[in-house]
Amino acid sequence: MKWIDIRSDTVTKPTEEMRLAMYRAEVGDDVYGDDPTVNRLEELAAEMMGKEAALFVPSGTFGNQLAILTHTDMGNEVIIPDSNHIFIHEVGASAVIASVQLRTLESPDGMPELGRIESAIRSNDVHFPETGLICMENAHSSGRVLPLEYLKSVKALAGRYSVPVHLDGARIFNAAITLGVKAKEIAATADSVMFCLSKGLAAPVGSILAGSKKFIEKARKGRKLMGGGMRQVGILAAAGIVALEKMVDRLEEDHRNARLLAELLSEIKGLKVLEDRLDINMVFFTLEFPEPQVVVEEMKKRGIKINPPEGKEYRFVTNNDVTTKDIHRVVTVLKEIVEDFS
Ligand SMILES: *Cc1c(COP(=O)(O)O)cnc(C)c1O
Repeated sequence: MKWIDIRSDTVTKPTEEMRLAMYRAEVGDDVYGDDPTVNRLEELAAEMMGKEAALFVPSGTFGNQLAILTHTDMGNEVIIPDSNHIFIHEVGASAVIASVQLRTLESPDGMPELGRIESAIRSNDVHFPETGLICMENAHSSGRVLPLEYLKSVKALAGRYSVPVHLDGARIFNAAITLGVKAKEIAATADSVMFCLSKGLAAPVGSILAGSKKFIEKARKGRKLMGGGMRQVGILAAAGIVALEKMVDRLEEDHRNARLLAELLSEIKGLKVLEDRLDINMVFFTLEFPEPQVVVEEMKKRGIKINPPEGKEYRFVTNNDVTTKDIHRVVTVLKEIVEDFS
């Protein structure tokens, strides 16, 4: 049975071309800096982000936490919307690794008003921690894309207080498609940016952290501290190069499939698509019945993997391994389950 897996875009399998590139990859010892394939990936990634330098890291979480470690001093405060991945989904790592505290601003779409960010920036007082960093996320985990103008305003504000900005751009290329700009234009609104090779771009492993030459030099040492100094890792970087050269433009297909999925799902009784969050390759919806456990199990019996809802919200994610035909199958199956169990 061919599974249809719409739990995430992290589930994508490496393409044939990636596997061949991995097989043939020229490698060295990257801790010595002489893995040519890693060096090529880092140069390409830096160029695409419009930054001086880039660093290959094992995961998105690793890249974000390394960025925080590199930008801040112990005891600093980091301003971040409370719906962002770094706060919700990274196991509290910034307290453990960088030893900073997160100053969360309530904002379901990752876009707190500028005035609220500004008032969260600490003044000079013996009692206060220093504001070490502001974190933004684009595309946002809610399925929304933040407008470029908003991010530019955040950067300008941060600049007035000499606070750096880190962008969690796990899905920066999805955001770029939706905004109709180059990814580097989004990256320009931050001092450092992390993006994932292993999500929609379908590489098996890895993320990139990009920034100034000085920042990446410091981050390289932090990566070693965190246990992320890898050796013949050109094997993985080779797939990353294919991801950047061949898989970026096709993300548009995932967006089209997501919109089709949303349209078809909304015809199911008791199902409500969250229409204002359809900017990328994700569809969020609520479903009155049957119980989530039944939905997940019955879909699985019919060859479709989905996640249970978070809170009340289901999230279906389109990706490179999901065809338009699969989208129709998903909706047909879910419709059947809703009818059978009501
Ligand atoms: C997936 C994701 C990450 C982390 O990536 P991992 O490789 O799973 O650690 C960070 N931020 C956002 C917004 C993500 O979606």
